[in-house]
Amino acid sequence: MSQKRVVVSFGTRPEAIKMAPVYRALERVAGIDPLLLVTLDEGDPVRGYLPSGTVAGVIDDRPSCTELVERILPEAARHLREMRATYVLVQGDTLSTFAIAWAAFLERVPVGHVEAGLRSYDAREPFPEEVNRCLTAVVADLHFAPTRLARENLLQEGKSPESIFVTGQTGVDALLCAAGQGTLPDNLPPGPYVTITLHRRENWPRLAELAGVIRRAADQNPGVTFVYPVHLNPIVREAVWPVLSDVENVFLLEPLEYSSMIALMEASQLIVTDSGGLQEEGTTLGVPVMIVRNVTERPEGIEQGTLRLVGTDSDELLETMSIALSAGRESDGRTPLSMNPYGDGQASARIARAVAWRLGLGSRPADWEGPEMAETTEPRSRLHV
Ligand code: UDP
Repeated sequence: MSQKRVVVSFGTRPEAIKMAPVYRALERVAGIDPLLLVTLDEGDPVRGYLPSGTVAGVIDDRPSCTELVERILPEAARHLREMRATYVLVQGDTLSTFAIAWAAFLERVPVGHVEAGLRSYDAREPFPEEVNRCLTAVVADLHFAPTRLARENLLQEGKSPESIFVTGQTGVDALLCAAGQGTLPDNLPPGPYVTITLHRRENWPRLAELAGVIRRAADQNPGVTFVYPVHLNPIVREAVWPVLSDVENVFLLEPLEYSSMIALMEASQLIVTDSGGLQEEGTTLGVPVMIVRNVTERPEGIEQGTLRLVGTDSDELLETMSIALSAGRESDGRTPLSMNPYGDGQASARIARAVAWRLGLGSRPADWEGPEMAETTEPRSRLHV
């Protein structure tokens, strides 16, 4: 019997981190030959996150959203044809996620969507990710929902129950592999630390103001070290650097290698972020996370108690940071896996088994049960545009 050629695709740092364990899990399935299709800038530091394997495609500069889709679509289709793909996996909600999924669909190659069913139900936040993930769900043939809530969202949209697997988050698998491997960035004074990442597109217009809040929090808490690995996007750098670079207890760093990032978060008293992945990672590590957004598609951690949606109002953010810092960190250990709403470290293995099942190579894996969640995490009904 010929090997099934399963193409694992991604284009950004979080996708690379979350797809690496899926790629490795597929390598262990007899009958499957995993391949990589990557849409990256040649010099992109994301290359450092890639598992060894085939790199089939690159984007070589930084185009606009529409140019990106325009360019990925035919390139991805060509590579999928050349790779003679049997099946394609995409992850998350970026433009490249949707563009590759659509290319695969047009090439009549079935697509599985990893991290399916996350919804904020607000088409403008996160932008354009909410719409990217809805569109990806339209063309996907299997949906790998990280949580039961994500499954409910997909069912509400009319997806068939057989097409959905509740797997847990592959980011939890990645974190469990990387935890304990990395060291804190050089030259940091001893803690306590606050980890900060703020870079999302919706926050660009207020980034300088948010940096001003970090500055005031740092002034009010001279014994705390605020560590901010700054995203490479020049819009982010130009907003943040002038406000924070001269503050003694704020460390603006280059993006950290993943295992050092985990070490930093694990050593932190608080995480302040607008990232999606850090919400799952903070919850897994048991570190309180303040989400600097108005909506989150990951409400499970709010119910579990680690996440707090603080919005983007400066005074509100400063006040909640001050309260959190004076209270100190409640938990001094990771969330037990049985209590983690985002996964148990086995998501990638479930996805690999589900793909094998889809390709006639094995039996259908059982869904991940996850901890009991109350009714506050009910799915909502429709996208607001
Ligand atoms: N990350 C990292 N180094 C950094 C900042 C973030 O390795 O300096 C990791 C982080 O641990 C998480 C992912 O990158 O796994 C989050 O990426 P990002 O915030 O860009 O995207 P999002 O999570 O919002 O999709």
